[in-house]
Amino acid sequence: MKGRALLGKKWSAGRLRRYREGVARRKAAGLYEGRLDPRTEVLTIKCSNPECGKDFPFTFSPRISRTKKRFCTHACQLRANHDLRTRVPEADELREMYKTMTCAEIGKILNMTGGAIRYALIRYGIPRRKAGGRTKAEKCKATSGQ
Ligand SMILES: [Zn+2]
Repeated sequence: MKGRALLGKKWSAGRLRRYREGVARRKAAGLYEGRLDPRTEVLTIKCSNPECGKDFPFTFSPRISRTKKRFCTHACQLRANHDLRTRVPEADELREMYKTMTCAEIGKILNMTGGAIRYALIRYGIPRRKAGGRTKAEKCKATSGQ
């Protein structure tokens, strides 16, 4: 995950010089009032979590992207990202899939491990089948995707 845009960033000598010249220019023009760059704006933006959508103030320094996703709180960001990362289908959908497929096969389709599917089944309370329902040859054929 990317942190703050300027954190740990090394500027080239030229870029640093240009930046300092710009600061000096703005200072000479009397634009600096405090420590903050005068181009800094505090804008009210909407939380990028569609379930939240709360308005909150955000400080935009000159170099910060205005188009990036912004969340009202860290917890809100985590919640939104968690939903994006979750690939396990809903309980009913998973139950239907499990009728015809094994955990490993479902996992292959969803690009997850069979263990993750197994865990989801337990979490949803879907009864597991007994092992050994199929012969080894059938299983081989099913999992190799042919
Ligand atoms: Zn939010």
